[in-house]
Amino acid sequence: MPGLTRLPDRLRVKPNRRYRLHDGDADRAFGWDEADARMITAQLAIRLEELQYRMYADGRYALLVVLQAIDGGGKDSTIRHVFSAFNPQGCTVTAFKAPSPEELRHDYLWRIHRHAPAHGEVAVFNRSHYEDVLVVRVDKLAPRNVWQARYQQINQFEALLTGCNTRIVKIFLQISRDEQKRRFQERIDEPRKQWKFDPDDLRKRAQWQQYQRAYEDMLSKCSTRQAPWYVVPADHKWLRDLAVSQILLETLESLPLKFPAPKYDPKKIRIR
Ligand code: AMP
Ligand code: MG
Repeated sequence: MPGLTRLPDRLRVKPNRRYRLHDGDADRAFGWDEADARMITAQLAIRLEELQYRMYADGRYALLVVLQAIDGGGKDSTIRHVFSAFNPQGCTVTAFKAPSPEELRHDYLWRIHRHAPAHGEVAVFNRSHYEDVLVVRVDKLAPRNVWQARYQQINQFEALLTGCNTRIVKIFLQISRDEQKRRFQERIDEPRKQWKFDPDDLRKRAQWQQYQRAYEDMLSKCSTRQAPWYVVPADHKWLRDLAVSQILLETLESLPLKFPAPKYDPKKIRIR
């Protein structure tokens, strides 16, 4: 039975250990096939919707989902396919681009913190504060000692959030270099997708190795028990969506969600 392979345990990055990425891992499927994966993902969407409803009603916990990936890794597509299970009332999505001049005059977490989820809500970050140890490091936008200090600052920031009833899950979508090439080519060839391609993406592709090192440091230094990283093999979109759905479900199921008791006695209410 393919359904026996629980993906979250396989994909969670253990705290305080060196994590290495291998290009060949990006198309792993753990014995799942596409038809089963799609069927189960559709079933999980119903559970996710129900649990988000409870979370919103309960109002005591928040969920922050951080999505990181290289260009073409499938962040937008994951949001469209998996997070559509959630009611838009109670779910926000924030895409973090290069910081504006105003944002650059503040500390790098300033723009992030204001989009953290309120209790009862889910917030999805399409890119995040981790760009400040990724693109900033690879493109040398800050000196080494500045970005080096950020791993610990980020862990402390996330500890603040988790200490205040926000669950955090961080998902790195891993694609192979060949798969990125295929996806870029598709973007260039298909008129509907041409807007998604930025010639600057090729400059970043040429920095593939530097990015892999930066991702490895992020995963090795910032996966904590309270705010774990998951490395999701994302060459197969169906495996990716299944894995992300299972991770979200496991996280929401770990919360002691309750519907609030009514502040009135339902038996005593008569509607005339
Ligand atoms: P996209 O997600 O394809 O729309 O691209 C957003 C761009 O913003 C990417 O090239 C990111 O590397 C860039 N970006 C996001 N956050 C930062 C940051 N803190 N510093 C510099 N560039 C960033
Ligand atoms: Mg892009």
